[in-house]
Amino acid sequence: MCKEEMGVRSVADIYGENVFSIKNMRNYLSEKAYGSLIATIKEGKTIDPSIADEVADAMKTWAVAKGATHFTHWFQPLTGATAEKHDSFIEPDQEGGVIMKFSGNELIKGEPDASSFPSGGLRATFEARGYTAWDPTSPAFIKKGEIGATLCIPTAFYSYTGVALDKKTPLLRSVAALSKQVCRLAGLFGIDTKDKRAYATLGPEQEYFLVDRSFYEARLDLIQTGRTLFGSAPAKHQQMDDHYFGAIRTRVMSFMDDLDRELWRLGIPAKTRHNEVCPAQFEIAPVFEEQNLSIDHNMICMETLKKVAEKHGFVCLLHEKPYAGVNGSGKHNNWSVVGPDGKNWLSPGDNPHENAKFLTMICALMKAIDTNAPMLRASVATAGNDHRLGANEAPPAILSIFLGDQLTDIIDQIEKGGAKSSKQADLLELGVDSLPQLPKDVTDRNRTSPFAFTGNKFEFRAPGSNQSCAGPNIVLNTIVADALDEICTELESDVKSGKDFNEALQVVLQGIVKKHKRILFNGDNYTEDWHKEAEKRGLPNLRNTEAALEATKDPKVIEMFKKHKVLTPEELASRHDIYEEQYEETITIEASVALKMARTMIVPIALEYQSSLAGTIDDMKTCGCKSDGTMDLLKEVGGETEKMLKGIKELEAALGGKASEKIDAMNELRVAVDRLEELLPDEIWPLPSYAEMLFMM
Ligand code: ADP
Ligand code: MG
Repeated sequence: MCKEEMGVRSVADIYGENVFSIKNMRNYLSEKAYGSLIATIKEGKTIDPSIADEVADAMKTWAVAKGATHFTHWFQPLTGATAEKHDSFIEPDQEGGVIMKFSGNELIKGEPDASSFPSGGLRATFEARGYTAWDPTSPAFIKKGEIGATLCIPTAFYSYTGVALDKKTPLLRSVAALSKQVCRLAGLFGIDTKDKRAYATLGPEQEYFLVDRSFYEARLDLIQTGRTLFGSAPAKHQQMDDHYFGAIRTRVMSFMDDLDRELWRLGIPAKTRHNEVCPAQFEIAPVFEEQNLSIDHNMICMETLKKVAEKHGFVCLLHEKPYAGVNGSGKHNNWSVVGPDGKNWLSPGDNPHENAKFLTMICALMKAIDTNAPMLRASVATAGNDHRLGANEAPPAILSIFLGDQLTDIIDQIEKGGAKSSKQADLLELGVDSLPQLPKDVTDRNRTSPFAFTGNKFEFRAPGSNQSCAGPNIVLNTIVADALDEICTELESDVKSGKDFNEALQVVLQGIVKKHKRILFNGDNYTEDWHKEAEKRGLPNLRNTEAALEATKDPKVIEMFKKHKVLTPEELASRHDIYEEQYEETITIEASVALKMARTMIVPIALEYQSSLAGTIDDMKTCGCKSDGTMDLLKEVGGETEKMLKGIKELEAALGGKASEKIDAMNELRVAVDRLEELLPDEIWPLPSYAEMLFMM
């Protein structure tokens, strides 16, 4: 893209130009095919095979006009990244040339060699067949390279027996489960649900770091593990709070301008951009969208962040904790539900009927989170995120809900068996007709809560910056569906036995609040007091990935995923195995890289410096100079070098052991290396420093 081009072309002109959008569909398809495809997308159904060829041909014509030569089924295997295998459109004609072809079959179904993707034992190695299937609810898009372009078709990935091998398949299933239960509840509220569905919305706030490419390339740890394994904190980092929302540097600004435009071209509604808490840390947030699309868009956003950074001489670090001692990066998952009435059910309404829906959803969330805190915690468990959760900069690993004072007051009233209006003090029966008016802005700001109500949505703040949003949202959708399922079952049986709906609802919600109010906490989640209080309340505190992943083995959890047809027991077990293995592998790689760097980069220069100091001391003695200070320095350098050498031995021994042993040994080694960084001459230190990486850009 050249500057002139951007100058003359407005955002409206470029927005979505690399997406096979609804507008493109209308332009390139016959009326019949267009109508059928739109219906497919709206209802989230599978495409009518009789229009597949026409749709494929239209997509190809559009894509080829944009310079595309290849297409790919773009999918999200359990590695957590995205995968693509390109096929060109070319087909030899019989005259020594080629024609460009793309058939309906190629659009709808692909068959990548699945044997190299993790399946957690789901797919026997002799049967490597996996299929990708087009998800028409997420539009095809074009990825441009320097020279050519590729048409990307978002797909789900599953085995020949129909087992989900990816993150999209269970996500779509969880959306269906949520829709079913929300519609059931809607029915009880007398809302028309015929041919309607409910869905979740998502707006993920993405944090990231930028580092100058030359520094990155000089750090084996960043290249191989995405984070620094050594590095002593600079005197000034984030203490002055002068970076957050600060003026954006020129070079970073160019990067952001470029990034936004790239995203807009792809139909990704990038909205906010700002400096984050730590120097060199930033955030980008889109306008929220339907969850499935938003998740695809976040995957593309992460990829685009890296690609555009490269163009500007940066590397984008998506790791949750690239630098020790300063803030890490998360991905705030803003989640809400749109009901079959087309309204946001987490938005407090302005009439009693709307409020009843709203409060039922709030109670369903209390029930869902309290009952399934360990599973929700498991959905954000990765080696990288372990550095964040539990440190005093991100929400703790203890899950709790922040509702703010006003909403908590209403919940208290529900617990007491009725709700009084917030203005008048007289008690009212809680029911559709007698709920109090809710104040318009029912939220306060609390930055420390892992699960906060922020006006018209819940913000789940524990997901890691490097994670796909799919996992946490699969769990969120499913646990809320499960809570609603129980609520509806109770209400339906009450109504059937002749009870008044309003009275029944009041009793059900009162029961939920009584049972689950321990999950509510409006205070500072970072304090030691809260940890103690949470323990008293019996809230789980699963500090690391290994502990958190155990939740997937709970029979109740297995049954829940099965009941709502989101994951079979085998599929769930495979996720446990894959994530556990990924965790182990990550730690082992980090340990090996730390060893290699210490041995081949730090030990040699430490020894060299020692011998130079020893030589200096000899020289000083020869000429009768005092050398006490130099001697002290040599002693300290020598002492730390010995500690480092001991640390290397211990880490090597730990390599074959448990992950926790490797982590302890790495931490130990790091202390010695970081101290040496403070003692050795800057000139010979072989790694770019934190000060350089965080401040020079
Ligand atoms: P903050 O940093 O104060 O939390 P931001 O504006 O940076 O707020 O991010 C809020 C995110 O929440 C945005 O991506 C926004 O689109 C999203 N959001 C707003 N309303 C909803 C909703 N109903 N459902 C899901 N996400 C929403
Ligand atoms: Mg936020």
